[in-house]
Amino acid sequence: EDVLLRVKDLEVHFRTSSSVVKAVGGVTFDVKRGETIGIVGESGSGKSVTATSILGLIPSPPGKIVGGSILYEGKDLTKLSNKEMRRIRGNEISMIFQDPMTSLNPVFKVGNQLTEVIKLHQKVKKKEAERRAVEMLRLVGIPEPERRMQEYPHEFSGGMRQRAMIAIALSCNPKLLIADEPTTALDVTVQAQILELMKDLQQKMNTSIIMITHDLGVVWEVCKRVIVMYAGNIVEYTFADQLYDNPLHPYTWGLLNSQVTGNAKSRGTLISIPGNPPDLREEMVGCPFAARCPYAEEKCFKEKPPLIEVEPGHLTACHFQTKSARLERKEGGQNG
Ligand code: SF4
Ligand code: MG
Repeated sequence: EDVLLRVKDLEVHFRTSSSVVKAVGGVTFDVKRGETIGIVGESGSGKSVTATSILGLIPSPPGKIVGGSILYEGKDLTKLSNKEMRRIRGNEISMIFQDPMTSLNPVFKVGNQLTEVIKLHQKVKKKEAERRAVEMLRLVGIPEPERRMQEYPHEFSGGMRQRAMIAIALSCNPKLLIADEPTTALDVTVQAQILELMKDLQQKMNTSIIMITHDLGVVWEVCKRVIVMYAGNIVEYTFADQLYDNPLHPYTWGLLNSQVTGNAKSRGTLISIPGNPPDLREEMVGCPFAARCPYAEEKCFKEKPPLIEVEPGHLTACHFQTKSARLERKEGGQNG
C-alpha cells in the first residue's frame, strides 16, 4: 500500500546531568497517504514526543533521537540538516496544537498571518494571497471571512482560533498534518465541529493526519487506525473499529473502561487501573505495564513482550496475546 511515513524502531531519550529519561522506547508504525491515524495514551506515554520527533523539533539537548529512523517518502528525516527539516516542516508536514496561541501571533491580524503563509508557500503575490486567505477562512467555516481577516487572534473565540490555525496549517498544502490534542481545550459542541471539519478537509485534500489524543472518543470520530502507547512503547496497534470491538491489551481495556465510566473531568485519567506508569529513568525490564496489570505473571516482569500481529492488521505487545488465552490462564491458575 501507499505509505507516506514509516517510523521504525524510534528511540528518544532526554538526558539530564543525573539521569536519562527513555521517553520513546522503540516505536514502529506507518502512515498511509490520505489516512488518519490516532496515537492515544496518557501524558508521559511518549505520544507527543513521537510527534515532535517526526517534526524534527525535539529540543536538543536535552532530547535526542538515539535510535531508529523516520522515513518520509523514502527520506530519513532523522538524517536531515536543520535547514532541510525546516523546509519540509513548512511545506510538507504541518502541525496544529491544543493551544492555537502557540502558532498565532497575538500582535498581527489573523488575515495578515494567513496571507504571509500563503505568499511564502504558494508563491503568489499579495493580492492573490489575500484572496486565497479569505477562501481558506471560508473553507474552515469562519463566517464573514473578509471582516475576520482584519481582526486579531484575541478577538476570535477559542473554536474560531482553532479554525484559523487549521487554515494556516493547511495553507501550505501539507501531505501530513500532525494534530496534538487539537480539540482538548474546546467545549464538546465546538470539539465535534472541529473534528467534523478536519474529517471533511482531510477528504477534500487527501492529507494524512496523525491525531495525538488522550481521548478515545476522538479516535472513534476521525481515525481509521489507532496506536495505543504506554510508557514510551506501543502496546496495541490496529483499526479503530477493531480496538472498539476486540481490544486485546489489558492497558487498552483499562483505557476503555476509564473513558466509558469517567465523567468529563476524569476523562483521560485511568481511574480504573490502580498505580502509576513506570519511572522512565529506570532500566525497564519486562512488560512496561506489568506493575499495574491484573494479569501479570512471572514472565511479564522478566521479558519485554514483542509487538505481534495477532490477527490481520491487529498488533499487540502482551505475552498472553488473546483474551481467551489470558482468561484460560487465569482460570487454570484458580482451579490449580
Ligand atoms: Fe499484562 Fe503480562 Fe500482558 Fe504485560 S505481558 S500486559 S503484564 S499480561
Ligand atoms: Mg502532549
